[in-house]
Amino acid sequence: MTAPARSAAPAPRPPAEPLVRCEGLVRIFKREGVEVVALQGLDLTVARGEVVAIVGASGSGKSTLLSILSALDAPSAGTVRVAGSDLMTMGRADRVRYRRHTVGFLYQQASHNLLPYLTARENVELPMRLAGSSASERSARSAELLEVVGVPEVGDRRVEQLSGGQQQRVALAVALANGPELLLADEPTGELDTRSGDEVFAAIRAANERLGTTVLIVTHDPHVSGQVQRTVGIRDGRTSSEVRRRTAVDEHGAEEVIAEEYAVLDRAGRLQLPAEFTSALHLRDLVRLDLESDHIGVWPAQAGEEPRPEDEGRDPQ
Ligand code: ADP
Ligand code: MG
Repeated sequence: MTAPARSAAPAPRPPAEPLVRCEGLVRIFKREGVEVVALQGLDLTVARGEVVAIVGASGSGKSTLLSILSALDAPSAGTVRVAGSDLMTMGRADRVRYRRHTVGFLYQQASHNLLPYLTARENVELPMRLAGSSASERSARSAELLEVVGVPEVGDRRVEQLSGGQQQRVALAVALANGPELLLADEPTGELDTRSGDEVFAAIRAANERLGTTVLIVTHDPHVSGQVQRTVGIRDGRTSSEVRRRTAVDEHGAEEVIAEEYAVLDRAGRLQLPAEFTSALHLRDLVRLDLESDHIGVWPAQAGEEPRPEDEGRDPQ
């Protein structure tokens, strides 16, 4: 990348070699001659060790993104690299290896990751069997993982005897069985009550902190999105906004979380303003811009500045 050397960027920059880099991702589905553009030029970078939440309305492309990152689906255009692999050009054998070792997947329904008639331990050991681990490796690793996700006592119980929250934590241990660098979770707390959902999220954080797993989690749960360092908003198949949180100590010595809102500026200079911002100031159609020495101001258009009829419907490019 050729970044201009002189500009001192105030926003924190991800390190040079991110674990995940998506650039201009496009995914078009064709069904009965109708095209649905699920992703339209999505950019996303995730550094190693991060926990990033993805939020967005239903249909905005979140699950499509996760399917691509898990190599279940391929993009129509764009570039996507994860842990040194180029997912656009990866062959079939590499895809199997990638799915077995590089990514782990946690679904909304724990049942996607679990066989109900096996014990929790047997479930966690199954992916390791497929990867060829020895019996002693498997038993040490499954015990460790059940402990990390907070259910060390359920190893010998069959999955169908466990509560929903316990099942989802065992499903997480299954996803982590072969030590993936990246965990992809698609609304993993969506079917759980608040308390079980919090336990599952705590288990995901434990995987991040203790095993170093990088986490990308799609969620509607404000408990979850409020607790991660970075929340990326997707709108209409593109990344549109980002909230970064950091803890600071206030004048009384108490820790407080500071959330800062960012918007994604794409290569064409397009910026999507958060809906709360535009609706608060009734911004629409045409806004007035002012370039200052260190920022750009955006104002509602004054009376008389509304788009002229000949401008309406014109493509701004
Ligand atoms: P989200 O997970 O954010 O709710 P999705 O990624 O599931 O959104 O879907 C994005 C868009 O792509 C939606 O309009 C959806 O209907 C469409 N879509 C997703 N998968 C398929 C598919 N296999 N075939 C056709 N359209 C699809
Ligand atoms: Mg979805």
